[in-house]
Amino acid sequence: MKLPIDIDLVKGFLDPVEGEALHQYCVTTTRLGPCLEVGSYCGKSTVYLGDACRSQGSTLFAVDHHRGSEEHQPGEAYHDTELFDSQVELMDSFRTFRKTMRVADLEDTVVPIVSPSGVAARHWATPLGMVFIDGGHSLEAAMTDYRAWAMHIVPGGVLAIHDIFKDPADGGQAPYTIFQLALASGLFCELPMVKTLGLLRRF
Ligand code: SAH
Ligand code: MG
Repeated sequence: MKLPIDIDLVKGFLDPVEGEALHQYCVTTTRLGPCLEVGSYCGKSTVYLGDACRSQGSTLFAVDHHRGSEEHQPGEAYHDTELFDSQVELMDSFRTFRKTMRVADLEDTVVPIVSPSGVAARHWATPLGMVFIDGGHSLEAAMTDYRAWAMHIVPGGVLAIHDIFKDPADGGQAPYTIFQLALASGLFCELPMVKTLGLLRRF
């Protein structure tokens, strides 16, 4: 896989092996419907999924309010001062995200939705071939993402959830909680994990 941009130059939180898995599953699900991600940040995962969509003539909806998750706020572990808009005293990753999309030539493939996930979902009615959840890691945020988007995945489609830590010592449990909810729903079967990327296929 040859990406349209040097992916190491894009800020973000995705292992290249996870990115390649996203790319592969995305290519194979575009015939079922477009792809949607929650949590784009500066566009790292968006480049992998967007490149897959572009190769198939499909579309990626990229949902993010671009105000950062809890861990991105000033004083928190993953705060990046370059992404802080001091005029309004808020995080703003959208400028950088747009630049990534332009440089990667993805502006005709990726539809940015600058909104909280729950708001973007309110009137959503388009069946989806793949959903990638990588938004907020509070239980409330993760539950909102799961409730909002998982039901739009068509049979044969894929639900991917980032930051799955089966051992609580390794990280927060909210993504793993929704992963288990998806399995318990009986609507999904488990695919092999790729690092911290949980993967499920809709029956
Ligand atoms: N997928 C990215 C990393 C995402 S970081 C990568 O590959 O690097 C998580 C992102 O989720 C942040 O940009 C944050 O703004 C966004 N986010 C957190 N809670 C959200 C919510 N409720 N609605 C929309 N976006 C949210
Ligand atoms: Mg993540």
